Amino acid sequence: MKPTNSTLAQYGTTIFEVMSRLAREHGAINLGQGFPEGNGPAPVVAAAAAALTDISNQYPPMLGLPELRQAVAAHDRRFYGLEVDWATQTMVTSGATEALAACLFALIEPGDEVVVIEPLYDSYLPIIRRAGGIPRSVRLNPPDWSLPEAELTAAFGPKTKLILYNTPMNPSAKVFTAAELALIARLVQQWDCYALCDEVYEHILFDGRQHIPLLSLPGMAERAIKIGSAGKTFSLTGWKVGYLTAAPALIDRIARAHQFLVFTTPPNLQAAVAAGLNQSDEYYTGLIDEMQAKRDRLAAGLERCGLGVLPAEGTYFLSIDVASTGFDGTDEAFCRYLTQEVGVAAIPVGAFYASAAAPGGYARFCFAKRDEVLDEAVARIAKRFGRA
Ligand code: PMP
Ligand code: GLN
Repeated sequence: MKPTNSTLAQYGTTIFEVMSRLAREHGAINLGQGFPEGNGPAPVVAAAAAALTDISNQYPPMLGLPELRQAVAAHDRRFYGLEVDWATQTMVTSGATEALAACLFALIEPGDEVVVIEPLYDSYLPIIRRAGGIPRSVRLNPPDWSLPEAELTAAFGPKTKLILYNTPMNPSAKVFTAAELALIARLVQQWDCYALCDEVYEHILFDGRQHIPLLSLPGMAERAIKIGSAGKTFSLTGWKVGYLTAAPALIDRIARAHQFLVFTTPPNLQAAVAAGLNQSDEYYTGLIDEMQAKRDRLAAGLERCGLGVLPAEGTYFLSIDVASTGFDGTDEAFCRYLTQEVGVAAIPVGAFYASAAAPGGYARFCFAKRDEVLDEAVARIAKRFGRA
């Protein structure tokens, strides 16, 4: 038989699925794959249920329901002061994952270079490569995850088509600083290219930090594409509703990829996400307060066990230094051991690096869980690794 596509054949099942399966098999508390434990905000879920009977269940417009696109534009104005014309500058996608794929297929010509920042979310590289792009990686390393200016500058060149980055950043929980974003904007202008900004955690930033979309920086209106996700902003990861904001010419091209990938997204979920985005500021501050309290709870619990916890500036993830547990082995071996023997699943941070020499010794936990679940996870870890 002839081989199937060789680019995709290189990739196994994603680490998130692998660890969730292992957690199920061993009855472990799943702090691995990133998903909140609850069932999402009740008014948003109720809006989806009502829309199933109240509005059409047939194909909605290819770019998305007008009410959701208007809500995206209003959201961008409310939080970032962006002037967005909903009819030409927004588009609805089937999750951020589809948004990323549509953008990469729309922008990349075979042989184009794409600057990516490791650690990176697992869908980036396969799609870049499948589109014929050549990734140019810049690595961030724990514990400080700072963006190395010289290396980033060297990664850009005449063949660069775009940079793809993620802030707040999964799995590092880093929030890019204003200076780092200004550097990215400068390089994007200098090399006349685009920026694909994965901002799915835009509403989960801690300790008073403010999210800065690259799109809001001078000179970026025509070049930056902003991606958001209802999965993260409304803790509804199973819905797979995402949204894009970009210049009209870019939306036009991205839509050409989107129409051949999925064409559209379930209408009742779109209507409900519109209601979600239009919620009052209290919803958004409540999300931050809730997640920050959970971060503090898990971090304090792990620190009480004597473990080295890295700072978490945003997202719902935090990482520990495996060496601080006394475990002798790789991050992957540690996460398997923790799942099978201790009953708590985590994700090895090395899985987010493509290069061979990934920093091996860190494990990521998702803290978007009920307090009792976090406490039980800490109790299990304390029993095995605790020094107290
Ligand atoms: N980017 C990052 C950094 C993520 O963590 C996720 C979460 N799965 C996604 C994209 C994909 O989001 P969605 O579920 O909306 O496709
Ligand atoms: N974004 C989630 C994480 O980082 C997982 C997404 C998925 O399972 N595909 O854990």
